[in-house]
Amino acid sequence: MLIDSHCHLDYLDIPSVAGGIAGALERGRQAGVTAIIVPAVDPSNFDRVAMLAKAYPEVYFALGIHPMYVQGLGDDALIALQNALDRYRHNPKLIAVGEIGLDHYVPGLDREKMEAFYIAQCQMARDWNLPVILHVRKAQDRVLKHLRQSGITRGIAHAFNGSLQQAQAFIAQGICLGFGGAMTYPRANQIRRLAAALPLESIVLETDSPDIAPAWRARGQPNEPQEIAAIAEEMALLRFACAKDIADQTSQNLARLFPVLTQMGYGAQTPESR
Ligand SMILES: [Zn+2]
Repeated sequence: MLIDSHCHLDYLDIPSVAGGIAGALERGRQAGVTAIIVPAVDPSNFDRVAMLAKAYPEVYFALGIHPMYVQGLGDDALIALQNALDRYRHNPKLIAVGEIGLDHYVPGLDREKMEAFYIAQCQMARDWNLPVILHVRKAQDRVLKHLRQSGITRGIAHAFNGSLQQAQAFIAQGICLGFGGAMTYPRANQIRRLAAALPLESIVLETDSPDIAPAWRARGQPNEPQEIAAIAEEMALLRFACAKDIADQTSQNLARLFPVLTQMGYGAQTPESR
């Protein structure tokens, strides 16, 4: 049982991915990937991620505006998000508001605007009673502050790269931490230390395909959901654990966050299904 908790599947429709989206999904199935969560990045791909969830049984989706995409958008984008959340509110495969957050790593972004969009989307997550999928770079404390102020207690901080103390603060807020390709690089000491030390109950696995390709993928080769299997093995090495236990526990964590994953037969093994 393997779940890719963060995959921009709609961006895999490129020549360097054999067979495009369908090919990547098939290779994922062969590797044992049973569910894939696809976050949106801006209003132009809301319907695209929803269509992927309709077309493929293992695909689930989130709707939100990514902090790096905020720059070119106006407030009408937030209205478009409201409308999309309303339009898909009865769709069981809409499982979160995301990808939202703050990026203080990339230079030149309008931080005030980014924060205003983030706060507005936290409020929507609260209003629609949905977990959040977070993008956080060099802004852990501010992201947390607004989670607390909005009363959000469920979600994932994807590709986590903060300190141990920040990790513990996210966990205390009910947020799981996503680990993927970055953890596979021998020099990523801080991330590897966190992946080894944090409670497994708060960890989820992700590829962030087509980005953050693991160390073993050839240079320039886009990342794909199938890598979740090897990412689970890498985490098992770091934790002196077995890969199956890593896969099972991280899947259970996702099923706890998104109960629909179990209701639809994916995610954690339940006693009844055993
Ligand atoms: Zn992402």
